[in-house]
Amino acid sequence: MQKILVVGAGFAGAVYARMLAEGGYIVTVIDRRSHIGGNCFDYIHESGVRVHKYGPHLFHTSNHRVVAWLSQFTSWVDYNHRVVAKIDGDRLVPLPINRKTLNITLGLDLKTSEQVEEYLTNVSSKDDVISNAEDWLFANIGKKLTDLYFRPYTKKMWNLDLSDMDASVVKRINIRVDDDDRYFPLDTFQGMPAEGYTNLFEKIFEHERINVLTNIEFDKKMLPDYDFCFNSMPIDVFFDYEFGDLPYRSIKFHTKIVRIADAASEVTINYTDSGPYTRETWWHNIPNHHLFETGEVVCTVEEPCDYKENYMERYYPVKTHDRRYENVYQLYSNKAKELRNMQFIGRCGTYQYLDMHQVINQSLIGAAKWLTERQCK
Ligand SMILES: Cc1cc2nc3c(=O)[nH]c(=O)nc-3n(C[C@H](O)[C@H](O)[C@H](O)COP(=O)(O)OP(=O)(O)OC[C@H]3O[C@@H](n4cnc5c(N)ncnc54)[C@H](O)[C@@H]3O)c2cc1C
Repeated sequence: MQKILVVGAGFAGAVYARMLAEGGYIVTVIDRRSHIGGNCFDYIHESGVRVHKYGPHLFHTSNHRVVAWLSQFTSWVDYNHRVVAKIDGDRLVPLPINRKTLNITLGLDLKTSEQVEEYLTNVSSKDDVISNAEDWLFANIGKKLTDLYFRPYTKKMWNLDLSDMDASVVKRINIRVDDDDRYFPLDTFQGMPAEGYTNLFEKIFEHERINVLTNIEFDKKMLPDYDFCFNSMPIDVFFDYEFGDLPYRSIKFHTKIVRIADAASEVTINYTDSGPYTRETWWHNIPNHHLFETGEVVCTVEEPCDYKENYMERYYPVKTHDRRYENVYQLYSNKAKELRNMQFIGRCGTYQYLDMHQVINQSLIGAAKWLTERQCK
């Protein structure tokens, strides 16, 4: 029976491991961290609150195949994520921008969606050449709202000006002309795994042909013991930075314990100012996250930084409008195609920002294709 090595116990590795084990292969999964789940790992804090160690992970998708696959391993609790932005010190307004945000922020009295549309059309730039994130925002919400809600936030999040960023980074943001304040209004499915993400990963790995080893760093010397390797480690690290390093933004998570009487009633509060922090998360307000009472809860505040200032923790690939880092990635990707017994997978293996549903979908498709090709040989 053929043996497979999977590097990384995040969603990419977990989906490949399960699919290949079901296809009859013997699979070993290794992860350099002390836990499974990759960046989706969660745990129960002593205050009785479930905390996502690497920032809030909200599952949302319109891909029913992904939901059906995950639902073999978890049930779900309904949850529609909502975010507010803190402006002028302590005023809270809905984010993404909707009718209420405009009225509160700008002192307007827009009563209908048509009035909001008309307002945004009037303040938006008429230049239809979109070559970066700033152009896209100017063309959709105008300069004033861009400077208030996006410019300082983008600077601290990415350490780049909006004009240097790829438009795709801001195109993900919904601008609402009604009062809908859901963060992911376009997705047909939103929910949280009922027992948390770590439990979901445990269930995915529960298979007689899967062996998971944590605290194990990948080493090229392991490869002769396996017939094939699916690798979700950073591709530039594998090739010893031969073409230069691929930059990432990272986040320092500052966790504080707060008396429940002093806790916020929101889940996420964004800071749009030019200070160092981007948002705070109050975990106990997410369904199934306040597991027992201690009188205290946890709040996590996020501070973006370069990954080299945070123990090489790589979170967000940097996407500039001139695609300079994607071009470097392409050099690594071409070189990887010469490897006969290895494929790079996942966020750092393919240097893309991927939401959970996207990485799961890509991995389901990739694993099925690989299994089919093997059967044909
Ligand atoms: C702060 C933050 C918030 C996010 N919020 C959301 C959200 O709300 N909704 C959403 O859908 N998605 C969200 N995501 C994206 C989500 O985390 C990813 O889609 C998902 O984690 C990608 O899975 P992966 O397996 O590709 O990578 P990862 O989860 O990063 O897993 C890769 C694993 O490989 C291991 N590894 C790396 N190098 C080695 C090595 N040399 N040897 C052994 N092991 C190694 C790592 O330790 C890691 O555990 C968020 C991401 C971040 C960073």
